Amino acid sequence: MLNEISSWCYKWRLSVNQSKTKIVHFRPSTWQVSERIFTIGNLNIDYCESYKYLGLWLDGHLNFNLCVNELSKSASRALAALCSKHFQAGGFPYNIFTRLYESLVQPIILYGARIWGITEHHKLNSVQNRACKVFLGLKRNSPNLAARGDMGWTSCLTKQRTEVLRLFCRLKSLPSSRLPVIISNWSLRRAKSWEKNVHALVKNLRISHICDVESINKSHLKALKRHLFQNDESKWFQELWNDSKNPNGNKLRTYRLFKKDLKPESYVLVNNLPRHIRKATSLLRSGSSDLMIETLRYSHPPTPCICRLCPFCSEIETESHFLIECKMYSDLRY
Ligand SMILES: [Zn+2]
Repeated sequence: MLNEISSWCYKWRLSVNQSKTKIVHFRPSTWQVSERIFTIGNLNIDYCESYKYLGLWLDGHLNFNLCVNELSKSASRALAALCSKHFQAGGFPYNIFTRLYESLVQPIILYGARIWGITEHHKLNSVQNRACKVFLGLKRNSPNLAARGDMGWTSCLTKQRTEVLRLFCRLKSLPSSRLPVIISNWSLRRAKSWEKNVHALVKNLRISHICDVESINKSHLKALKRHLFQNDESKWFQELWNDSKNPNGNKLRTYRLFKKDLKPESYVLVNNLPRHIRKATSLLRSGSSDLMIETLRYSHPPTPCICRLCPFCSEIETESHFLIECKMYSDLRY
């Protein structure tokens, strides 16, 4: 094939760009790189470990970490552009910000997700969390769950898996004579493959009430998507009440008392709410406002919860104390 290209190029007086022409040897991780020398005309082609093809980084072991890293970098750049426009315009309303995020940043995050999107990638999650926090005016150390909860956004993982299932349904709907289907059936017989992982994923999702794995097709996609979103919401809710990561007390102590559904909150949806009010509301809800319960968390050594007292009385200064109980603010409250 290389000789064919070489003679075609010779015939039309074209030359091959040697710096952009590389060989990647796709192989299991225990294998050495091949020693075969490939030439085009009289040029040797170098081997390389990874290559960017159509915007997707492919490495020799088909490990997509490099690809995800690169995607997260360019998504961060796109988010920075969106944020600067957001601040220049004095803050977009929720629906415009969400639409811009979905059309400028999300397509970058989900580029090629059909292939690599089965597992969770923290770098991509953090881009989305940053977007939520910028809109709500939250701090870096505010809880991600509260940021995503108030915005009502679906997790990156669910969006990735929707893409994976979209490709899977499409493959299942194609006639068996098509090349992608033949490749898919071949790779299913191998020890490790995308198909194997997707089969495992579909099994884990427990979709027997929708269809079984073999008979899955395009018409099931809508029901599958709904199922994924429900799973996402229940996982989010479980994490809200999961204290194992924060043995010293959870910032979500107040938030989880009233937040039940993964839906955008009404204060987020108000179009002309001044940014500082939205910020104060979201900080207070997510337990990251400057109350003693939060600020003394970062003292050295950290103050135990029972000693984080209100400066005006001898109660612990929590959100409920500040909002409802503290005598100091009763005139303002009135
Ligand atoms: Zn007080």
